[in-house]
Amino acid sequence: MIRVGIGYDSHRFGAGRRLVLGGVVIPYTLGLLGHSDADAVGHALTDAILGAAALGDIGRLFPDTDPEWEDADSMLLLAEAHRRVQAAGWTLGQADVTVIAQAPKLAPHVPAMQDRLASVLGVGAGAISVKAKTNEGMGFLGRGEGIAVMAVATLVASPRSTSQRP
Ligand code: MG
Repeated sequence: MIRVGIGYDSHRFGAGRRLVLGGVVIPYTLGLLGHSDADAVGHALTDAILGAAALGDIGRLFPDTDPEWEDADSMLLLAEAHRRVQAAGWTLGQADVTVIAQAPKLAPHVPAMQDRLASVLGVGAGAISVKAKTNEGMGFLGRGEGIAVMAVATLVASPRSTSQRP
């Protein structure tokens, strides 16, 4: 059985913040505002994986009212969500991520994002796809007010280990 999950996230740019996407620090004059490190790639992918397992969403697992998650490394949130999904009997098949940003240019950072995400999730590099595009100058993304990310992930039922069988 294969399950599919979808995730979406967006964050507004602000001054005095690091820009972190897919667990990679990207040189830019602005960063994304948020309670955690505002890694929109990490958040969208976390929601896709949780969604495929019907285990809620990142806001339910890690509430932004909880001081524990202030400036949190979103890769830790992704790893914890993945651990819960695995505990529920699912194995990540693959994931595909689209980042929409008018600036900065993200293509040079795509390989590093893919490697970091694959490492955090413990899957081969070929299981994680990251793509970057602009919004052709249209709307809030086109004006460079922030970044939006869409993600899809598939889960397959983990083979039962003999210890789990009655
Ligand atoms: Mg977010």
